[in-house]
Amino acid sequence: MTPSPDPKPLQYSALQLAWLHELGIDKPWLPGDTRAVPRVDTPAVPSVAQNAEAAVVIKNEVQSQTTAAAPTISPGRAATRGAASKPQQAAAPMSAASVAAMTALTAAAAAAAPDLGALAHAAAACQACGLCRQRDQVVMGQGVTQPAILVIGDGPGEQDDRKGLPFMAESGALLDQMLATIGSARTRDVYLTNLVKCRPPGNRLALREEIAACQSYLVRQLELLRPFSILALGRVVAQTLLNTDEPLQDLRGRIHEIDIAGQKIPLVVSYHSGYLLNHPADKAAAWQDLQLLRTLRR
Ligand code: SF4
Repeated sequence: MTPSPDPKPLQYSALQLAWLHELGIDKPWLPGDTRAVPRVDTPAVPSVAQNAEAAVVIKNEVQSQTTAAAPTISPGRAATRGAASKPQQAAAPMSAASVAAMTALTAAAAAAAPDLGALAHAAAACQACGLCRQRDQVVMGQGVTQPAILVIGDGPGEQDDRKGLPFMAESGALLDQMLATIGSARTRDVYLTNLVKCRPPGNRLALREEIAACQSYLVRQLELLRPFSILALGRVVAQTLLNTDEPLQDLRGRIHEIDIAGQKIPLVVSYHSGYLLNHPADKAAAWQDLQLLRTLRR
């Protein structure tokens, strides 16, 4: 799929311009568009606050983002993304038969859900993988139905688990700022969710079997939400959705498609906003990704 050759003209509000400058962007980055983003006197939006938890999250997001190898989310892998607030339980390796049984369990529950409310109800009672043991809340997602953009991250963080909503921490604030630069928001035309709906303990990456067990909820969300486009954040998400081992860098910069119930949905890959918190130099590349996404606007 190729980008539309004639994207809508760039028309930024003062707030969007402030966000762009906060992100360090002074060019629209559209192909052939050499206009500079005009300076505004609007006070800069507050920068994303750094705190100790975020530092740990960032450190481990880096590990996730920069590892070019295949998504070897193998049993026993427990790269932490943040500090744990509860005693951690070791994830025991599972047999292929157990994984298949868990996946069948959630597939049946998800398929039977006629709407998002019923799907959330089913997930709230789900004990198909070990992530149910230490969750406070299942985090299904937040946003509008039939979104212009469905944003998919890897898993809920500590604050998300506490509040029952996705992208609640600093990385979520940055994501909101970035979406605002293309005129989008979780309250307007975006839906935010994750590969797994329960927080991996210690903010480690989800294991392969946990992602497999939870995938039916995501697939059913896609069927019910009918998104116009998808933004996949980070290597694990991109490789899982596209069923590939290609490194993140090779997956960025082009429009992919995934098939949901016979419908082809365009998908763009970018960095996770948690990674960008500690790698501001890559915000420009993420901005390019958003502009690519913007060319898909309906
Ligand atoms: S992560 Fe998904 S499959 Fe695992 S317990 Fe939570 S809802 Fe169920």
